[in-house]
Amino acid sequence: MSGTKIEEKLFQNRYLVDAGRPHIKVRAHDAPSEELRALVDICPAGCYTETDKGTVEIVADGCMECGTCRIVTQETGEIEWNYPRGGYGVLFKFG
Ligand code: SF4
Repeated sequence: MSGTKIEEKLFQNRYLVDAGRPHIKVRAHDAPSEELRALVDICPAGCYTETDKGTVEIVADGCMECGTCRIVTQETGEIEWNYPRGGYGVLFKFG
């Protein structure tokens, strides 16, 4: 459909949460690298946030499995990234 905004298209997706088994974890850190800090701004699903202490945390619900955070922190090794178990995670739809 022409003229549809990206937010409306993303709303077509659904996400099945695997409770207690997040597929992406941020390793414990005192201060995030520039790369990890950047994820707060560049994750398209807004999964990363900066805490009051200046560390970065993730809530992986809504993750689109784009792999951006995995690539950006490849050198720093600050996150642990796996695909969700079968049947969980994002369910793409075409609206
Ligand atoms: S894989 Fe993509 S959508 Fe998921 S947390 Fe990483 S950057 Fe965000």
